[in-house]
Amino acid sequence: ASLYRIDRWGPPYFAVNSSGNIVVRPYGADTLPHQEIDLMKVVKKVSEQKSAGGLGLQFPLIIRFPDVLKNRLESLQSAFDYAIHSQGYESHYQGVYPVKCNQDRFVVEDIVEFGSSFRFGLEAGSKPEILLSMSCLCRGSPEAFLICNGYKDSEYISLALIARKLHLNTVIVIEQEEELDLVIDISRKLLVRPVIGLRAKLRTKHSGHFGGTSGEKGKFGLTTIQILRAVRKLEQAGMLDCLQLLHFHIGSQIPSTSLLADGVGEAAQIYCELVRLGADMRVIDIGGGLGIDYDGSRSTESDLSVGYGLDEYAAAVVQAVRCVCDRKFVKHPVICSESGRAIVSHHSILIFEAVSATAANTQPMSLGLGFQYLLDGFTEEDRADYANVTAAAVRGELETCLLYSDQLKQRCVQQFKEGSLGLEHLAAVDGVCDIVSKALGATDPVRTYHVNLSLFTSIPDFWAIGQIFPIVPIHRLDQRPGVRGILSDLTCDSDGKVDKFIGGESSLPLHEMGGGHGGNGGGYYLGMFLGGAYEEALGGLHNLFGGPNVVRVSQSDGPHSFAVTRVVPGPSCGDVLRAMQHEPELMFEALKHRAEECGHEDEIASAALESGLARSFHSMPYLTTAATVTCAMVNS
Ligand code: PLP
Repeated sequence: ASLYRIDRWGPPYFAVNSSGNIVVRPYGADTLPHQEIDLMKVVKKVSEQKSAGGLGLQFPLIIRFPDVLKNRLESLQSAFDYAIHSQGYESHYQGVYPVKCNQDRFVVEDIVEFGSSFRFGLEAGSKPEILLSMSCLCRGSPEAFLICNGYKDSEYISLALIARKLHLNTVIVIEQEEELDLVIDISRKLLVRPVIGLRAKLRTKHSGHFGGTSGEKGKFGLTTIQILRAVRKLEQAGMLDCLQLLHFHIGSQIPSTSLLADGVGEAAQIYCELVRLGADMRVIDIGGGLGIDYDGSRSTESDLSVGYGLDEYAAAVVQAVRCVCDRKFVKHPVICSESGRAIVSHHSILIFEAVSATAANTQPMSLGLGFQYLLDGFTEEDRADYANVTAAAVRGELETCLLYSDQLKQRCVQQFKEGSLGLEHLAAVDGVCDIVSKALGATDPVRTYHVNLSLFTSIPDFWAIGQIFPIVPIHRLDQRPGVRGILSDLTCDSDGKVDKFIGGESSLPLHEMGGGHGGNGGGYYLGMFLGGAYEEALGGLHNLFGGPNVVRVSQSDGPHSFAVTRVVPGPSCGDVLRAMQHEPELMFEALKHRAEECGHEDEIASAALESGLARSFHSMPYLTTAATVTCAMVNS
């Protein structure tokens, strides 16, 4: 566990059991030993063939743990409840979940259900997001906020006003000055009294990667001049009482509570000024930014970590708001936060299989035989270099050996390009050079493990912004890993590899894979943890690899301590083709027609050809490994 730092980033949800498997602790620190869920047991249940009692699902797989999600929400709420109670704060905390972090229907529905007893709401940033939030919140608490952020046109604003007509507690947050005119206009037309928020551009700046939206030059929000103009405009329209919320967001992954308190304090000053100017202020919405400690280092220096936990975060926020409001004799506002990363990151684990690994060293041709046998094809100079290599080897002068072998190789590559040297000759020279560099310890000891995954679909932030997640084998953790490796995905793209890991490592300790030459054959499972936020929504269709299969696993007191409560199959080849405007049904018909035209097969062979084609459209784009090949046949 310490080799992979699981003891640092894992608690309170992930640990390693005595069998060397990762276990999920669904209720965090309150999990009892018999409630722990062995991830390998889940993987077995989900991937094993149906005939063996499994669900026959292919990798990659996302396993969602709703109990973890519930625990995250409750922990956030109780951190604020505690800070409010202990500091004598005279209002309450009422959070919202920014659906952009993971818009999956079942994730959002779970959040609304789990949070309804404490009025937890949703935040939307686009028209489809507001539509999904409206429909999900119909089943939430009537007091839950629906916060409408992002760029808005009249259609977006109309939707938000309709939401108010539907008695959803909707707040339209003005991010650009022009939006206010639209809100005033449309609300008059629709005869709805809106509740309006203003997003302030704070001076407080978060200097990490995620701080791009903060500071005076940030993308969103109103400057002080614009805030004053908005107040005046609302006053003239007789709508100053509609202004009830102040919002800001200084960026995701806020590194320290001191920066947080600085930002919240500045916003609280603006809040108090808005009260003074006559607005009917009730809520301060501190945006997102509650961070995740991906590497468990508790460092405030990197985007990978943060120097606080939930309790410290909540305490810093409550204190900053309270101090400013008390000084100005302003009634304490409801505190709202839009934490996304901190709510959904832990509950979902991406599981993928290593299907093969490069051999430790490519098998070199025997120096003597290969070269001697082919000597005739080489030039005088080549033969002289070869003689020098062997003579230096006999004398044990490895550096000289390397010098001559490099010289030999360079010349032979040129001769090959010119067409004067055969492939066997070049291979023999490569073999000689491999032996020499191996003897010098100069070969790269890092292996490449090929994984049944698309980085661009499932870990897009690694490729896009260098975001690093904990990636570890989910079993065999009671065995010392014998090699180091990087992970190479299925896409035909040289960027499709993971070669940076937590702890600043450029390779990962890995176990030898069983099976054939070079360790092929699958059966080695890795998990990417803390990736429940942003990755699914950002993932693309590079090489037409679609999303993974998704299963929802709840803790149960039954014999396995878990139950699979939902299965959502990932997109098939047909589905991903459709996403790029191809029409799988027509494609199938065209290919079938072509098969008939070619028609020299008997009836049985042509039926097999047709069903083979049909199966391909219905199967997933990922590799069908030994374990799943039969079930794919059975399923189709
Ligand atoms: N609110 C707004 C306005 C955002 O832009 C974001 C994302 O950056 C969030 C909330 C969620 O932030 P986080 O995931 O850091 O909680």
